[in-house]
Amino acid sequence: MLNCDLHCHSTCSDGLLSAADVARRAAANGVDMLALTDHDDLDGLPSARRAADGLGMAFVNGVEISIEWEALQIHIVGLAFNSSDPVLNSGLAGVRSGRIERAQRMSIELAKVGIAGAFEGAMRYAANPNLISRAHFARYLVESGVCKDMRSVFESYLVPGRPGYVDHRWASLADSLAWIIGAGGVATVAHPGRYKLSRGDMRRFLGDFRDLGGQAIEVMSGSHTPEHVDLYGRLAREYGFLASRGSDFHGPGESYVDLGKLAPLPEGLKPVWLLF
Ligand code: AMP
Ligand code: MN
Ligand code: MN
Ligand code: MN
Repeated sequence: MLNCDLHCHSTCSDGLLSAADVARRAAANGVDMLALTDHDDLDGLPSARRAADGLGMAFVNGVEISIEWEALQIHIVGLAFNSSDPVLNSGLAGVRSGRIERAQRMSIELAKVGIAGAFEGAMRYAANPNLISRAHFARYLVESGVCKDMRSVFESYLVPGRPGYVDHRWASLADSLAWIIGAGGVATVAHPGRYKLSRGDMRRFLGDFRDLGGQAIEVMSGSHTPEHVDLYGRLAREYGFLASRGSDFHGPGESYVDLGKLAPLPEGLKPVWLLF
């Protein structure tokens, strides 16, 4: 089976390596087909594609869009779209524009529990300031000694009910699918095992996603347990979704799984990359 990694990040969003270095590392790890999927931003795609071309590795355009569904933050990965599509680009610009103001509100909340200077601290990690994310805040909280590592940050801070979390208006599910499909791409549910949804709500979400033209879900993901792989493999078959595989690599030492190092897709699923 091809070694396909269709979910990862560069410094264009909250990854630690440049887009070209992500492609080089993927090729060195034996990846046959890579999609770079920065949050809400397409700027890394040309340099990642150039590097992939030079290394003989197949490359697919990608993006991970931040959306809300029933007040829950969910991520939709778009694959193999036309990156110059104007509607997709203006939609993503809209998603990005709210991030700075959100980061300022996060910083105010952290100051209330005695953590000063978080906005400036997080910004120092954001190579692309338009893409300031919770990952940049998490790095600052580790650097300043508030937490010992990224994992403990997301246990005690920056998540609903904890200091530093603020509500935010993201794109709608319908918008994100319209942008991706309108640009000729394939919409994929990112890491479904990560969402705090009951079984029934997950089924409703997957039904909405399918009704709006969604075609695939990540079955193999860096953040999935074997139980998640089993469950989402079954749901992919039941709903007729194609299956995707993506590490969600953000950087050396910071991610659970390196580029191209996930286990293969389980038998009997239809890989999404057969479309590309
Ligand atoms: P944002 O898009 O600003 O809401 O930030 C979300 C990002 O924070 C994700 O893409 C991850 O990079 C990071 N993140 C969220 N939850 C966790 C977690 N539990 N462990 C590590 N990183 C996380
Ligand atoms: Mn991220
Ligand atoms: Mn995600
Ligand atoms: Mn991701």
